[in-house]
Amino acid sequence: MSVKRVLVIAGSDSSGGAGLEADQRVLAAHGCYALTATTGLTAQNTLGVQDIFVVPSEFVRKQINAGLEDVGADVVKLGMLSSAETIDVIAETLQAHKVPVIVLDPVMVSTSGSQLLPEKAVKELRTKLLPLTTILTPNIPEALLLLKDAGAETSEPKDLEGMVELAKKICSLGPKAVLLKGGHLPLTKDHKTSQDPKEGTLVVDILFDGTTATLFETEFLVSKNTHGTGCSLASAIAANLASGKDMIRAVRSAVRFVEVGIKTSIDLGKGSGPINHFH
Ligand code: PLP
Repeated sequence: MSVKRVLVIAGSDSSGGAGLEADQRVLAAHGCYALTATTGLTAQNTLGVQDIFVVPSEFVRKQINAGLEDVGADVVKLGMLSSAETIDVIAETLQAHKVPVIVLDPVMVSTSGSQLLPEKAVKELRTKLLPLTTILTPNIPEALLLLKDAGAETSEPKDLEGMVELAKKICSLGPKAVLLKGGHLPLTKDHKTSQDPKEGTLVVDILFDGTTATLFETEFLVSKNTHGTGCSLASAIAANLASGKDMIRAVRSAVRFVEVGIKTSIDLGKGSGPINHFH
């Protein structure tokens, strides 16, 4: 029996809701086999990140090489990368192993406000990894940080048109495709800024592949259980691409997976709990 293999290079979330722990559950839910290379460990719960231990970059290199020399990977998914040195190692090893598909979730700051990638490493991520990336999945703040680092003019998008412009600018930084996530900019049904984001407004994610923009609309869900949604979305895309879906189908199915995951989430802890990965 054969199985699709996804190598996840990311950080561990000790609360289980985001990071490698979520990635592995999402991949299992999609019938994929997950290998891991751990870039950092967090001491974390549903209230926030208490501390981070950065794994030495040379040890990350050993984990990636061990996995790719033996089991191999159909897709590599990148999450929290922890340091500029680790980003260099990842770029070197993925090029050496000629990994065919790379999904990059440019994790920078957690929803609770902790810096998960040092500011000085943004340049490394932009210059070394974006050109290797098949699909980049930034939210609006991450997209703006990447553009600012590139010295490009940036202004916060106010409506759908602004988001499409932002997605195009990010795509010109090197990735083959960009999925700009609209969770930070709830829109009305006619795609204007929603003054009162509550149930009934829309979240619009935009996939831009260098020529065409495709929109994915979901209901804006009011829930405290959204921890790890970014990790889960990128892992679901990785699983879908590994299973042979084309980009649009891979994204559509992943967006739906996360939407249902939020709707059926279980309350755990005192803060922002995880989504449901098995539904
Ligand atoms: N911790 C780790 C290890 C992560 O990789 C991430 C996100 O990618 C987070 C925490 C942040 O998750 P959230 O912003 O959903 O709270």
